[in-house]
Amino acid sequence: MSGGPILVVIEHDRGTMAGASAEALTFARSLASQSGVECEALLIVDESLAAECARYGASKVHVVPVDWMTDYSPEVCGDVIAAAAEGLSPSAIIACGTDRGNEMLAHAAAVLDLPFVANCLDVSVGDDWEMTRVQWGGSLNEDSRLSSRLPVVSVAHHALEASEEPVETNVSTLDLTIADTGLRTQVKDRDVIEGGLTLATAPVVVGGGRGVGSAEGFEVLEELARRLGGVVGCSRAVTNNGWRPHSDQVGQTGTRIAPQLYIACGISGAIQHWVGAKGAKKILAINTDPQANMVVKADYAVIGDLFEVVPAIGNASG
Ligand SMILES: Cc1cc2nc3c(=O)[nH]c(=O)nc-3n(C[C@H](O)[C@H](O)[C@H](O)COP(=O)(O)OP(=O)(O)OC[C@H]3O[C@@H](n4cnc5c(N)ncnc54)[C@H](O)[C@@H]3O)c2cc1C
Repeated sequence: MSGGPILVVIEHDRGTMAGASAEALTFARSLASQSGVECEALLIVDESLAAECARYGASKVHVVPVDWMTDYSPEVCGDVIAAAAEGLSPSAIIACGTDRGNEMLAHAAAVLDLPFVANCLDVSVGDDWEMTRVQWGGSLNEDSRLSSRLPVVSVAHHALEASEEPVETNVSTLDLTIADTGLRTQVKDRDVIEGGLTLATAPVVVGGGRGVGSAEGFEVLEELARRLGGVVGCSRAVTNNGWRPHSDQVGQTGTRIAPQLYIACGISGAIQHWVGAKGAKKILAINTDPQANMVVKADYAVIGDLFEVVPAIGNASG
């Protein structure tokens, strides 16, 4: 590994740094200390986040202004990362394994003609990197070895807790020539979700599965979520039945959640659901089947009819 810095690509959206980037910086700091190099950040467009990068240990923040990129564009970000890598000679490029993090790094790696390893849990730095990474939507962990002049790696989202380690940081502007030919895909419009809390950020998620039985059956779950300051999620059986919108779905083809508490009601815990739910700090399963996968894997379980158990929890919580 060269003595260059570990460069962390910061994911952000209109002035807010993604929590995932704090995880990437925490992960990169530990790699940097393993190999005795600096941990630095690459900020595409938005220099207002430099102080936040410093809070999570970036000793230097490189800002790349791209005036004509008015919103997120994965190909342009990939071009920026590749050009920055040529200029800064980092020893590795890291981002968080979110949809955006992975697509930016995939583009950058393609431009640089390098391999890209996505969704790592653990890395041991050496001439080759030994790593464990999440595969198949989270249903297996793979041990692998990366031999590359410049490792390009994403860290699995929610695999670690972000921790602060404030440092003095040096902010500089990187003057790169980026062609606008990469502007093939760009965010053009957004549907704003009203109400603040989302599945991805809520401290409590009350999830319902096929056991809820109907769209109307979700009223008891809505009531419990409201009392606990959380939101309602669901399984794919529910979205397939048209009881809830896809934006409520937890899982491999839905949202990956990481609340303090996930209350899974009438959900069997199929692997595709579990990979979206396992980031929860604690899981309470409510199910009539004591052998259901969700019950077996949960921290706590209540065996019973959710239409009796859920209102009882709501009443007990005041
Ligand atoms: C490629 C692919 C991607 C997928 N992606 C996702 C995904 O992102 N998210 C997802 O959720 N699934 C996903 N699935 C589907 C997944 O395999 C399961 O089919 C689905 O999660 C099952 O949903 P469920 O647990 O609600 O239903 P079921 O498996 O039918 O389980 C219902 C549960 O409710 C319990 N129950 C019934 N009545 C009550 C009651 N009154 N009180 C308490 N408990 C009760 C039952 O004991 C049972 O455990 C995917 C599948 C594929 C093939």
